[in-house]
Amino acid sequence: MARYLGPKCKLCRREGVKLFLKGSRCGTAKCGLFKRKVLPGQKAGARRVRKLSDYGIHFREKQKLKRFYGVLERQFRNYFAKAERKKGNTGENLLILLERRLDNVLFLLGYGFSRNQTRQEINHGHIIINGKKVDIPSYLVKPGDVIRPVNKENSINMIKLNLNSHKNGELPSWLEQKDDGLEVHVLQLPSRDEVSINIQEQLVVELCSK
Ligand code: SF4
Repeated sequence: MARYLGPKCKLCRREGVKLFLKGSRCGTAKCGLFKRKVLPGQKAGARRVRKLSDYGIHFREKQKLKRFYGVLERQFRNYFAKAERKKGNTGENLLILLERRLDNVLFLLGYGFSRNQTRQEINHGHIIINGKKVDIPSYLVKPGDVIRPVNKENSINMIKLNLNSHKNGELPSWLEQKDDGLEVHVLQLPSRDEVSINIQEQLVVELCSK
């Protein structure tokens, strides 16, 4: 039976990467990214092949990166400027900055089924870092940080429930979970190989440097 993909899954299709926009469904075999796309009125088996220009290829890679981490253009430009100012490879610096975002880190740990959900948990004051409440999803974690839910029954129960329901893959080596996953220690900064998105960052750098 032909499947008509919803707008969220279409975004993942377009970017060629799982963006985890449909909650728990994203982690199952029902994920639309791997289903054959057949639009209404289109014959099953027929494929529309769109050839991208050189600019288009660069642009798509940048959009993929922005959508994956859920950042808007202005914020993305700030990350890029920061990455350029740092020593070393700008593309790698950019990926590592984005990977260090608190909403991304919580998603990797299984605190939520999407980065949108972990962003909401942070905004609603459920998270403390080094004993202090942090309600900024773009907070960049650093070595030595200890992340926990606030000491309130409803926050702890919610995070526990999410931890049991959402395992978002293997935990990267730069993070360590203790206390049944409720406490997280940031051991070091992530390396390029540990960044969770598969992307050609050089294309993004070439586009943004013009
Ligand atoms: Fe749809 Fe899969 Fe993307 Fe989730 S990850 S929005 S199910 S295509």
